[in-house]
Amino acid sequence: MDIAEITERKQQGRALAAGEIAWAVRGFTAGEIGEAEMAALLRAIHARGMDPRETADLTSAMARSGCRLDLSGIPGVKVDKHSTGGVGDKTTLVVAPLVASAGVPVAKLSGRALSHTGGTLDKLETIPGLRTNLSPGEIISQVREIGLCIAAQTDDLCPADKKIYALRDRTGTVDSVPLIAASVMSKKIAGGADAILLDVKCGRGAFMRSREEARALAGLMVELGTAAGRRTVALVTNMDQPLGRAVGDAFEMAEAIETLHGRGPADFAEFCIALGAEMLVLGGKAASTGQATPVLRALLAEGSALARLREMVHRQGGDAGVLDDPERLTAGTQAVEAPSPELGFVTGVDARAIGEVVRALGGHGVPGGKAGVWLDKKVGEAVARGEPLARVYAPERALAADGARALAVAFEIAPQPPAPFPLILERIADTAA
Ligand code: URA
Repeated sequence: MDIAEITERKQQGRALAAGEIAWAVRGFTAGEIGEAEMAALLRAIHARGMDPRETADLTSAMARSGCRLDLSGIPGVKVDKHSTGGVGDKTTLVVAPLVASAGVPVAKLSGRALSHTGGTLDKLETIPGLRTNLSPGEIISQVREIGLCIAAQTDDLCPADKKIYALRDRTGTVDSVPLIAASVMSKKIAGGADAILLDVKCGRGAFMRSREEARALAGLMVELGTAAGRRTVALVTNMDQPLGRAVGDAFEMAEAIETLHGRGPADFAEFCIALGAEMLVLGGKAASTGQATPVLRALLAEGSALARLREMVHRQGGDAGVLDDPERLTAGTQAVEAPSPELGFVTGVDARAIGEVVRALGGHGVPGGKAGVWLDKKVGEAVARGEPLARVYAPERALAADGARALAVAFEIAPQPPAPFPLILERIADTAA
């Protein structure tokens, strides 16, 4: 086979055969196909798309590129969760310990920053000493013993996705329905969970900008999960403005800890409970989300979810003291306010613009990169002229001031408040879930 011919056929909008897709994935993973050739194929897929059969073949080739995590020795229904990526998305850091404290074992393999969005692993690693590069054996024994593990995709699990993911990030080919679907679902299938909850982000801060695209991605991933024998539910959720108030790895970790203490933003806490409720149902611990919701509220209020995260941090070698003093995570930064130019109501906060500001300051995916944004105002809130809309944090004041100036374009203000909108827009499930 020839990579140039395969790429040319895709450039012409033709479907690729299963064998061609498997050959390209295997060759790139083994280093036999170079980055430039693979980038050309990714650009062709990004431009011309893939049909559901090709996407299923790509998913299966990527899932087979390494070994699989065998969670079958752990009792109970193992439930995984994955977000397609958004700004301020620290949900896993709250939901995984919350669900684990309700008795659903969670073995979560998380990713790093992609484009303008942060990665759960980078956020977790802001806890001093915490290790995420666990071996499959360590992951399995930790889940068996404490019911919770958040770790990096091991080198031998979906190595194809690891390489393709990094190349997509560098070649501007992230926002493609088949490429995202195959990336997410190959990891979930190889990750070994019995059931999967997908959080498909939709809006300005997401890779899927429109509701239609997000719905198509969600439906496709549910089909791929179901075909692989996993109960799969997808929620399409709003990512027009950042989730919660903190953006930036250390700041988001701190906000997740505050939420586990019961001091986080109410809408973010409710969002975590709603996702957790779906996972409890998938895990067979509740008959309905209505039954799961009060259980999760109580576990959050009584500190059980925080206690479970503490066990995990301790077990993964991290300094669990930061769970009692999350401000330590963001110490040593200087804040500069971004004042409102006028009186009115916030009608929009451009999540992507905020993600770009944080990325430019080194607040996403840079080890030790302490920079971030705190949103004083979110959509629907009133603001006076000169009142801070947000604060930008960076190690040096001049950098924070640059960030604050760049932030000015992210806020829209109008004389009237906008109509309220829900965080969860749609639920898509296979017929069994
Ligand atoms: N998350 C993933 O794991 N892969 C993508 O392509 C996008 C978000």
